[in-house]
Amino acid sequence: MSLKITEDCINCDVCEPECPNGAISQGEEIYVIDPNLCTECVGHYNEPQCQQVCPVDCIPLDPEHVESKDQLHEKYLKISGQA
Ligand code: SF4
Ligand code: SF4
Repeated sequence: MSLKITEDCINCDVCEPECPNGAISQGEEIYVIDPNLCTECVGHYNEPQCQQVCPVDCIPLDPEHVESKDQLHEKYLKISGQA
């Protein structure tokens, strides 16, 4: 399951450089996460790094993009050119 950034985002810029997959970018009004690139940090870290650093706790799991850990690992392998 990818994560999503809610409208509570204050555009603090802290999460974007922490994402190992380059999944976070500045959207029209707030930061956004590309669900095709977010692996919940599987393959890189044990915890979603963006969630760890967000000062307003506005990055929940996105129930519209449900994936198992195996699927997330597959995505990680594809993104990193290992599959
Ligand atoms: S959970 Fe990890 S991969 Fe997904 S957007 Fe956050 S930092 Fe990037
Ligand atoms: S860390 Fe949180 S508040 Fe800051 S830009 Fe990212 S989502 Fe928005």
